[in-house]
Amino acid sequence: MNVAITSSLLGDLHCSQCGKTYDPFSRQTVSRCCQAPLLCDYVLDVGSVLPGDLASRPKSLWRYEELLPGIQPENRVSLGEGFTPILTLNRLASQNNLQHLLLKDEGLNPTGSFKARGLSMAISKAKENGEQACIIPTAGNAGVAMAAYCARAGMEAVVVMPRHTPDAFKEACRAYNARLIEVDGLINDCAANVQEINQSGAYFDVSTLKEPYRLEGKKTMGFEIAEQLAWQLPDVIVYPTGGGTGLIGIWKAFDEMQSLGWLPQEVTLPRMVAVQAESCCPIVTTWQGKQLNSKQYVGRPTLANGLAVPRPIGEPLILSVLLESGGTAIAVSDEEMVKGVRELARYEGIFGAPEGGAVWAATKKLLEQGWIQPNERVLLLNTGSGQSYLDNLKGKLTD
Ligand SMILES: *Cc1c(COP(=O)(O)O)cnc(C)c1O
Ligand SMILES: [Zn+2]
Repeated sequence: MNVAITSSLLGDLHCSQCGKTYDPFSRQTVSRCCQAPLLCDYVLDVGSVLPGDLASRPKSLWRYEELLPGIQPENRVSLGEGFTPILTLNRLASQNNLQHLLLKDEGLNPTGSFKARGLSMAISKAKENGEQACIIPTAGNAGVAMAAYCARAGMEAVVVMPRHTPDAFKEACRAYNARLIEVDGLINDCAANVQEINQSGAYFDVSTLKEPYRLEGKKTMGFEIAEQLAWQLPDVIVYPTGGGTGLIGIWKAFDEMQSLGWLPQEVTLPRMVAVQAESCCPIVTTWQGKQLNSKQYVGRPTLANGLAVPRPIGEPLILSVLLESGGTAIAVSDEEMVKGVRELARYEGIFGAPEGGAVWAATKKLLEQGWIQPNERVLLLNTGSGQSYLDNLKGKLTD
């Protein structure tokens, strides 16, 4: 079948809880039936797109266009997001008795974090649907990314952020001419504020997983991991989990690549690890059986602002990824994540976000516990740049 025709059929939506389908061409939030995230479906015939077709395409996430929501080229709002490098961490590997340690550096994305992927897709689709103004509750990076993509699309932006967020995030939003609202509390308090401000629905609400397309942008990390590693997936992927969009997205990408025949049907998929902060670890707490779910979980701030998501709406989806992949969930302290940031910087030249430091700290713990074997191929996600977090890290980066 002609790829152009196939594309226009793609991107139907279904409720992640009951499967009921929804129209992708009008404004959608969570499903009306179950108040659950909506997921995008694609018609993926084996052989309709081949890995070899990718070689000549742009080095951004848009190279996977058949696996993305159908958005007219003139509505694509792009700053060159995606196709970040996968680096080999030889020094840290040998110091820690690991044989194959890799890191995908998402801090190199536009706006300094992987949130650029999700917001590029969401704002593109919003533009396609005729939206003029967007609003977002954020722990920091998502707000900056939304402000940037809205600026590029000529759309109005309102960003609602915790007051304690580092200045770099706030100033970036102001530079992009977003209206910045500061709230005492965490992202769930910001979300409540958004509900209040936006009762009329004048703004399109781009909250994580309450809008189906940020997930589609973030899942491209999964395609890139496969393509950049020559279709040989790692044994373990270690991911800093807040709302869980990236974790769910990477897993969705693996599933879609299997349907397309890009990965063998019998391939062993990576074990997925959700890393959280001790001061806000709802997924770890549920995973360990200490609560039924995180609907009442109370979190505290952490230096890794992106991990301070106490009640993620995607919890059931996150837990299924951990279960299906044979993965696990683990928490690290703020002290451990700062040490992780320092080690990535001084031994590998990567100044990552505290979320990236957390991932390295968790990997060492899992190695110690024997959950990771020294000969396994381990891929870390550094999801953001350390530059944005200087307020949090000041005075903590030297002995
Ligand atoms: C948002 C964020 C996270 C958490 O991402 P999710 O996909 O929502 O789990 C991790 N790291 C950084 C730097 C972030 O900005
Ligand atoms: Zn439903």
